[in-house]
Amino acid sequence: MQFIDLAAQQLRIKDKIDARIAQVLEHGGYIMGPEVGELETALSAFCGAKHSLTCANGTDALLLALMALNVRTGQAVLCPSFTFAATAEVVPSLGAVPVFVDCDPDTYNIDPASLERGIAHAKALGLKPTVVISVDLFGLPADYDAIEEIVVSEGLKLISDSAQGFGGVYKGRQSGTIGDFCTTSFFPAKPLGCYGDGGALFTEDDEAAELIKSYRVHGKGGHKYDNQRIGMNSRLDTLQAAILCEKLAIFADELERRNAVAQRYSSALSNILTTPHVPDGLVSSWAQYTVRPREGQSREAIMESLKTAGVPTAVYYPLPLHMQTAYKGFPTDPNGLPVSEEIAAKVFSLPMHPYLTAQDQDKVISALHDCV
Ligand SMILES: *Cc1c(COP(=O)(O)O)cnc(C)c1O
Repeated sequence: MQFIDLAAQQLRIKDKIDARIAQVLEHGGYIMGPEVGELETALSAFCGAKHSLTCANGTDALLLALMALNVRTGQAVLCPSFTFAATAEVVPSLGAVPVFVDCDPDTYNIDPASLERGIAHAKALGLKPTVVISVDLFGLPADYDAIEEIVVSEGLKLISDSAQGFGGVYKGRQSGTIGDFCTTSFFPAKPLGCYGDGGALFTEDDEAAELIKSYRVHGKGGHKYDNQRIGMNSRLDTLQAAILCEKLAIFADELERRNAVAQRYSSALSNILTTPHVPDGLVSSWAQYTVRPREGQSREAIMESLKTAGVPTAVYYPLPLHMQTAYKGFPTDPNGLPVSEEIAAKVFSLPMHPYLTAQDQDKVISALHDCV
């Protein structure tokens, strides 16, 4: 059994992917070839965003969004601590300060009360809060009604880091249509992954879209050799775009399959473990199916028993960012981040992908019932 089975997906569409790769080799437009535009159009058709702009990876997508929002020294960017490092990494690289806030114990996404304390604390430190980066952790959309209310009342901008959440839905709103920018990643293990690195940004704002198109190609102006701003080189390879066109075509079906696996897990496991909580009106893209043991049980012992039974598991994430060497010095919610610290010590994730057979699901479920 695989934790994430990319081979099963490849088998399903191998002929189509082979044909796509052959087409790119035929036309030779390896950089910004026609498949890049084709994918961007298909991404917008899928999620409803006005502008879909691909780039080299999900980290660059965040960095490009911050550049377009002119984030710089003296500013604070609020983000969760219980996330992948890329969410915060892009902030100090522009000279701004990440301020870490706590997460909700049920959804693992930003706790709005902690966000408010983080904003007040940033001001007290003499920083200007400018942007909130919310994360759709494990595929579940963040608490956008509450976050948007705070963002609007404080006059901030919102970036939705949906690297894990593309395909998710928040009260009828698709991931990709929320925030001043939404970003995603096509890293192979994400719900919509390619065969290497890739990423995208989504925005409704025409001017912002033009800025991103410039920043991702060295800050180009109307003329290729008249650069108007300091940009970077962050394009999605044509080959990856071609592969993604075929993967996007089966993505809706894959999301349904992931949701079916999650439902089966939850109904069989919620009496022995704390299973994921999906608030009413939200749809997760199930990047991970993450559980935590009940009081008194050891995560490590359970993971060890599962391993013996042939069931792979993983811990996302064993340490919140504010406890990691590179991020220890940055400010946090002055009340501390007790929830992030507690869940990082407790959570683990079960095998989750669209091709997990009923037999394998049963094996996971019975192995857990045997050891918990
Ligand atoms: C994977 C991930 C990223 C970064 O994506 P890359 O394509 O690997 O650069 C950013 N944020 C979150 C929450 C992620 O999970």
